[in-house]
Amino acid sequence: MEKERHYRVIILGSGAAGLTAAIYAARANLEPLVIEGSQPGGQLTITTDVENYPGFPKGILGPELMEEFKKQAERFGANTIFGDVTAVDLKGKPFQITAGKQIYTCDALIIATGASAKLLGLESERKLMGYGVSACATCDGFFFKDKEVIVVGGGDTAMEEALFLTKYASKVTIVHRRNELRASKIMQDRAKKNPKISFLWDSVVEEIYGDPKEGGVRGARLKNVKTGATQDFKCDGVFMAIGHEPNTKIFAGQLEMDERGYIITHNGTSTNIPGAFACGDVQDRIYRQAITAAGTGCMAAMDAERFLESQES
Ligand code: NDP
Repeated sequence: MEKERHYRVIILGSGAAGLTAAIYAARANLEPLVIEGSQPGGQLTITTDVENYPGFPKGILGPELMEEFKKQAERFGANTIFGDVTAVDLKGKPFQITAGKQIYTCDALIIATGASAKLLGLESERKLMGYGVSACATCDGFFFKDKEVIVVGGGDTAMEEALFLTKYASKVTIVHRRNELRASKIMQDRAKKNPKISFLWDSVVEEIYGDPKEGGVRGARLKNVKTGATQDFKCDGVFMAIGHEPNTKIFAGQLEMDERGYIITHNGTSTNIPGAFACGDVQDRIYRQAITAAGTGCMAAMDAERFLESQES
């Protein structure tokens, strides 16, 4: 282990929430350290066009938007480091954060570790991940030129992934466990209008067929949940778009969470531990938008600043 490094504020995560917190904390002269996490830039870096972030009437690419956030935070003196936090100790003060061989300490901690794509939990899904199974169309869609793919899910992510995949795939089938979509009306309409997209209702994926060494995914066994009937469905790829789960494992036993693992916040972004604040998707199971994440990131920085001031007076 290397010598401890102390910061007044450390921010975990570099998505819309973390980097907005960094902009505000840096402008408050707190010289925050941002530990970027395993996916620098967060979930927006695996999307394409962001059409609903105010200020960009023509839309902006997700990765580009996050690059601008980062430049803005660095302009005011935020330090960003690549790395993933493996342990946190919030029992005493200062808080201790371990990332690789380095221990960092801080007086206030802003948790913006976000959420990650959920998977079905099938053994075949695990085995074929990266060999035709994916949770990111923008990362992997390119490999499915003129191929047939399934997208699992009925929310905005599923519609967005399906629409994106039509740029490459010859046919996209959205497999949804109900007969009604959860996605917003505009996204539903776009998907329904696209001639390459079709829907299989009331259906779930029971098994994915294929061999990683022999061309990857070949098809999937689908089950109609109403009739119980199963069918073998030929396809070359299966994209999971069934929502997300919060990245909170490292805080287990220290921070209060709800039954799905989202950090519980009160009075703005405060957690149950004074000096530890949470913002963005890690504490938001309802809205989960770039703009709401940025909004709570701003709140967390202001809450942290007030907390530090109260400790000094
Ligand atoms: P959602 O939670 O909204 O949707 C998840 C979908 O997956 C639901 O249709 C759900 O079915 C289905 N599902 C969940 N678990 C399973 C399972 N085990 N097996 C089969 N199906 C399953 O997540 P999203 O990622 O789609 O969206 C998250 C948030 O991000 C939303 O607020 C959304 O509006 C937003 N978003 C906005 C975008 C935009 O505006 N362009 C783009 C992408 C996301 P059921 O409906 O039956 O529960």
